[in-house]
Amino acid sequence: MNEKEEKDGQEYEKICYICRRPESKAGSMIMLPGNMCLCHDCMQKAFDSMMGSGMDLSKIDLSKIDLSKIPSMPYMNMNFNMPADGTDQPGDIGISKKQQLKKKKKKEGPEFSLKDIPAPHVIKRRLDEYVIGQERAKKAVSVAVYNHYKRVYAEDMRELDNAPDGDDVRIEKSNILMIGPTGSGKTYLVKTLARLLDVPLAIADATSLTEAGYIGDDIESVVSKLLAASGNDVSRAEHGIIFIDEIDKIARKKETNTRDVSGESVQQELLKLLEGSSVEVPVGSNQKNALSPMATVNTDNILFICGGAFPELENIIRERLTKTSSMGFGAQLKDRYEKDENILSQVTNEDLRAFGMIPEFLGRLPVTVTLEKLTEEMLIRILQEPKNAILKQYIRLLAMDEVKLVFEEDALRWIAGEAIKRNTGARALRAILEEYMLDIMYEVPKDPGIGTVIITRSYLEKSGGPLIQMRG
Ligand code: ADP
Repeated sequence: MNEKEEKDGQEYEKICYICRRPESKAGSMIMLPGNMCLCHDCMQKAFDSMMGSGMDLSKIDLSKIDLSKIPSMPYMNMNFNMPADGTDQPGDIGISKKQQLKKKKKKEGPEFSLKDIPAPHVIKRRLDEYVIGQERAKKAVSVAVYNHYKRVYAEDMRELDNAPDGDDVRIEKSNILMIGPTGSGKTYLVKTLARLLDVPLAIADATSLTEAGYIGDDIESVVSKLLAASGNDVSRAEHGIIFIDEIDKIARKKETNTRDVSGESVQQELLKLLEGSSVEVPVGSNQKNALSPMATVNTDNILFICGGAFPELENIIRERLTKTSSMGFGAQLKDRYEKDENILSQVTNEDLRAFGMIPEFLGRLPVTVTLEKLTEEMLIRILQEPKNAILKQYIRLLAMDEVKLVFEEDALRWIAGEAIKRNTGARALRAILEEYMLDIMYEVPKDPGIGTVIITRSYLEKSGGPLIQMRG
């Protein structure tokens, strides 16, 4: 290997002698005598022009050619401006800014080292930049994820026989059950988490899952999704996250005479995945068939997060709380619990069992996290504070037309109030904004004189227009 390619112990790419493009841009290089590399394009052009000038290729000894001196190959003199210090002489492969580090070959050893796993407060701080409110949920998820990856590390060390002597404490999996109203940020929290940790994520919908052999996706399809999200890299998939949404829809069906193929049986079949087992999944497809190759994925170190809105669960909790609270004050307490918007945070396994989740299933989701219903204040913050907040996106779009976009405080409050009425949490915010911003985004670029657009409450209430200020 050339001395310079291995500078500072790092492996650098080869660079084409003629066009000076690195391997990452020009593709693989052809090595010529004298430590000279040529990319395929330049090699082809060289041959083409030699043929054009009537040379007999069979008589050419490539090692004797000084490419820069062949007159009929004008492009071959490109980029030959060598630095005055002579560090980049022909035949001497310099390391230009365009060259990238070659990807290091995978080391043998654990995927994570303990110092790589961000501490819970670091994970939470990063989540804060995107997810507004939901403090308890963010804290609980950060700790659960931290413990999960510590466990993965401990298991990897055990496999490598590196575990400290006498260390026979096995850490249990900390899969998470996430309960919260629609649009409160369950999916968003998980997506943000996976992105921050740089682990693959698969999002599946429990409603599409059915017991093996029935119409619908079989349970293992969630693992194929993760494998696809990992670019079919089994070892990456084995450290990923699977989020199963709408988990409340697989509650045991009450009063049913037929076989419950999409409810309790799905919970039963999920047990072995949640706990950790090896499953054979098709590569590059989520349907098993004779043509698709199969891969074995072990779910032992995959973090499962199951999320759902669990409607009616609030009533179950209220009923239990009223029943178990001191006698005599029943009516008064009932009233208090009725008003408590965040009664979900008091959920217990007993309530979830009453809802229709089977005890074995709950046993495999030891961490329960609840998300609050978003308030008007939280919705206003969601509009403007996250790193990729919707308002920031509109402001940026108009800034490209050199127009300043301003939202009046009162207008933001109106949008939040309207979102609460629609009852779909923060999801309604984008829909509302799209509705009202369409005309603005259409009209403003028409008039280059417009300097500032102020969105007012009266514009949103359709009793007035936005305030427009002209430039200058
Ligand atoms: P669900 O709880 O139904 O899974 P989502 O996570 O899909 O809800 O939320 C829908 C959208 O609303 C997200 O894509 C995100 O943009 C926004 N959102 C919801 N909750 C929050 C939050 N707490 N902070 C910031 N954005 C949020």
